[in-house]
This record gives sequence, C-alpha cells and structure tokens, in this order.
Amino acid sequence: MWDAWLDLALGSSCVTCRDPGRVLCAGCASRLPTAGVRVRPDPEPPGLAPVFVAGPYEEPLKGLLVAHKERRVLGLADPLGRVLAGVVGSAVNDDSDLVLVAVPSRAAAVRTRGHDPVARMVRAAVRHLRAQGRPATGSTLLRQHPGVRDQAGLDVGQRTANLAGALRVDPSAQRRLAGRWVTVVVCDDIVTTGVTVREAQRALAAVGIEVATVAAVAATRRRRAEGPGSA
Ligand SMILES: [Zn+2]
Repeated sequence: MWDAWLDLALGSSCVTCRDPGRVLCAGCASRLPTAGVRVRPDPEPPGLAPVFVAGPYEEPLKGLLVAHKERRVLGLADPLGRVLAGVVGSAVNDDSDLVLVAVPSRAAAVRTRGHDPVARMVRAAVRHLRAQGRPATGSTLLRQHPGVRDQAGLDVGQRTANLAGALRVDPSAQRRLAGRWVTVVVCDDIVTTGVTVREAQRALAAVGIEVATVAAVAATRRRRAEGPGSA
C-alpha cells in the first residue's frame, strides 16, 4: 500500500515502457519471465552448483534491477521476487522444503543505498513461492566480512582474490536450520563470473550446509575477448 501511495504521490511511470502510472504497468509485468534457464559462467568456477536465471542482464530485467537497487524503487521488489520465485521453481521442481539464502550486500553498499535489494527480493520470492503452495523460508545465513571491495571493474582473478573468505555463516541462523531437511538455494540479483555465488557456496559448505542450486534474476553475457569495461 505504501509503495502504491508513493507512486501516486510522486507521479511515477513504468520503468520498462515509461507509461505514466505504476512503477511497472500490468502489461510489462505480464511479460516478465516466469521460469528459469540453466546458465554456465565461462570460465565456470570449479565446483559451482547449477545456476539458473530468468534471462540475460538486458532489458527489461536490467532496468528493473537497476531501478530497484540504485533508485530505491521499492515497488519493484515484488515483481522481481515473482521472477526469482519462477527461477527457483525451475531449479528445484520437487516439493522439498526450500530455504532461500540471499547473498549479502556489502555493509557500505547497504548504507549508501539505504536498503539491501537482494534480501528484499528474496523475501518477496518466499511470499510468491508460499502463495504457490511451496514450502519456503528465507534465511539470513550469510554475513559479509568487512573490507570487501566493490566487485565492479574487477576481472575474474581479482574477484576471486577479493572474495576469498569474504562470507561467513551466522551461527544463530544456522541453529534455526539444525535438524531440518531442507533444499538450500543461494539467491542473488545478477550472476556475472559466478565467483560471488561460489564463495557463498564455500562459506555454507564450511559449516556442512550443501547448496542445491543457485537462483538469480539475470546473468551477464560473457564475451570471449574481455575488455577492462566488462563486468
Ligand atoms: Zn510498462
């Protein structure tokens, strides 16, 4: 309701087609992907769990992710969560008890942006999965160690070094999972090199938690000849 009120008060328009009205009009919302496809980063980090995304990091997903993350268009958390729920549904097509684990943002990024966009999307995805009758919970199992740099502009080797040991598991969140037979899905907004989600997988494996799959909204297309500007 609050987001809807803000949209009206601020006179917003659809992020995708620019029509005045809601931040995502009904037509554009209905054309968003409802399932996921398997992608493989190239090169693929060794031991990476299967990665599923809704589509390439291009329009319309790119515009939605950027507006939600950087411009704090919080009304987009719900449609993005629905997209993520569709990806999770494709990645795990049984009736297992799902635990969605968000890749945490750097604390500095959360302060700058005023919110944690992936955590917000994961909460929305959990609501959509439950509405579809799937047992799902969100977990804040992962924490980021301080001192991790922004990944933008780093190549695969630099990202790997930057992120080595960057994540750890929160013991109290881990205790809440103890004794439950669950399917753990690591969730992120964008998969680029796969290094970040592989680090999440490593941190969870270090305490005996096996990651079944990785779900993200979008994946960047890798190019063979990577220039300094590629992410
Ligand atoms: Zn639209």
